[in-house]
Amino acid sequence: MQGTDPLASLAEALAAFNEAREWGRFHTPRDLAMALSVEAGELLELFLWKQGPDDLPARERLREELGDVLICLVNLAGRLEIDLLAAARDKLAKNAERYPVERARGNAIKWTEHLEGARDAKEPPSSG
Ligand SMILES: [Mg+2]
Repeated sequence: MQGTDPLASLAEALAAFNEAREWGRFHTPRDLAMALSVEAGELLELFLWKQGPDDLPARERLREELGDVLICLVNLAGRLEIDLLAAARDKLAKNAERYPVERARGNAIKWTEHLEGARDAKEPPSSG
């Protein structure tokens, strides 16, 4: 990731930040994955005990935790040498195959259930 890509720019800034503090030795994939989960948990915690879809946490707290999640994700991807944008684009393409618009529009059914439905539709009716 190079150039004007904002994610690459963030990754470079994070690498410099971590290097200046000699934190690389702490950034094992395992610990970075755990940190990502912890930060996602902190984001989730903001929604705990909220009532209904319009009862949102303070925007600044959401902003901070979303930033933490992205930092951990970019650190982990960097440590694993995974191109996050390419990974996300590949996953989006896979999801487009898993969730064809004609089957997925307007519902939240998991793709495996779509497959089961398609398989059941092809099976002859049970005799028992
Ligand atoms: Mg946090």
